[in-house]
Amino acid sequence: MNRFTYTRAADIQQAVHEITVDDTASFIAGGTNLIDLMKENVVRPSRLVDITRLPLDRIEMLDDGGLRLGALVTNADTAYNGHVERRYPLLSRAILSGASAQLRNMATNGGNLLQRTRCYYFYDTATPCNKRDPGAGCSAIDGFNRIHAILGTSDRCIAVHPSDMSVALAALEAVIQVTGDDGSRAIPIADFHRLPGDTPQVDTNLATGEIITSIDLPAKGFADHHAYVKVRDRASYTFALVSVAAALEMDHDTIIEARIAVGGVAHKPWRNPDAEAMLAGLQATKDHFEAVGDTIVRHAKGFGYNDFKIALTKRVVVRALQQAVEMRRNE
Ligand SMILES: Cc1cc2nc3c(=O)[nH]c(=O)nc-3n(C[C@H](O)[C@H](O)[C@H](O)COP(=O)(O)OP(=O)(O)OC[C@H]3O[C@@H](n4cnc5c(N)ncnc54)[C@H](O)[C@@H]3O)c2cc1C
Ligand code: SF4
Repeated sequence: MNRFTYTRAADIQQAVHEITVDDTASFIAGGTNLIDLMKENVVRPSRLVDITRLPLDRIEMLDDGGLRLGALVTNADTAYNGHVERRYPLLSRAILSGASAQLRNMATNGGNLLQRTRCYYFYDTATPCNKRDPGAGCSAIDGFNRIHAILGTSDRCIAVHPSDMSVALAALEAVIQVTGDDGSRAIPIADFHRLPGDTPQVDTNLATGEIITSIDLPAKGFADHHAYVKVRDRASYTFALVSVAAALEMDHDTIIEARIAVGGVAHKPWRNPDAEAMLAGLQATKDHFEAVGDTIVRHAKGFGYNDFKIALTKRVVVRALQQAVEMRRNE
């Protein structure tokens, strides 16, 4: 039995203070990931600071035309929000492709971004894992690595980030608003999650004590041409082997702007600016999409069991771009 204390934070300042003064304390929101990790003995916080009563549970319009998603709005309420469905359907689809209805009713937006990897060895405390126990070694590199990364890996860790929501947010170029002891700051989603490098135990650039207060979506939502394609081992209730969020701005058949974020392949949602730039000004053809897929996986590296992800990623990129082009024609 691991003992821990429980506190319910009355306001953001108290929540931040509780974590800042005790680096083994942890925020708890929906608890759908944290409680599992505690039950499996992967994390052992000394104190849980419940943030669910904080006033971060609203979705609001921003003056610049964007939309602010409170960190404590549930994944379900976000996906079914009228503004999100109408203006950011890519985000809605990505969220609804994840977990189950029951989990989405509990899971919060902040917690979704901060969920830990699903690497089997990370959860199995009998095996070495640099993310759980820095310096212990990585069991996945020479182990069963079917779900692991092919891009941005290091010799310390080849885990992937499991969130579907984050992949859509990467394509939409969301901004994460956080508050800590020193005040508030904004972190572009591209800088929020980290590659493993030499410190795979650190998943994000959130500083100790900082709380996510909201996720801000820019005005541009790519509602006319988008797709979220998720390939997984079964039809629901599981994580992506490879997923692609594609967002296109088009003038008839010509692509003006393309954004492509890939999930299930790296320690963070993966974007390749060179690949995206290749499509600007081009006709939306399969040949062009295949060239983009080739560019995205050019430096990909498999570890044996996950080699199939290289070819799969290319195909899912092409499929997502085709669906994004076709969506208006099919309505
Ligand atoms: C069976 C199963 C299947 C799943 N399938 C999918 C899937 O297919 N796709 C997918 O994307 N997800 C999936 N999930 C994951 C699920 O989406 C996450 O568990 C959930 O989003 C986490 O949110 P939460 O509010 O419950 O977080 P919690 O478990 O409460 O917290 C998670 C972490 O975030 C921290 N935290 C929470 N809120 C904040 C905040 N505002 N500021 C700072 N820190 C914070 C906590 O301290 C903790 O470290 C699945 C989960 C399960 C159990
Ligand atoms: S891939 Fe990362 S999380 Fe998995 S065993 Fe290796 S170090 Fe641990």
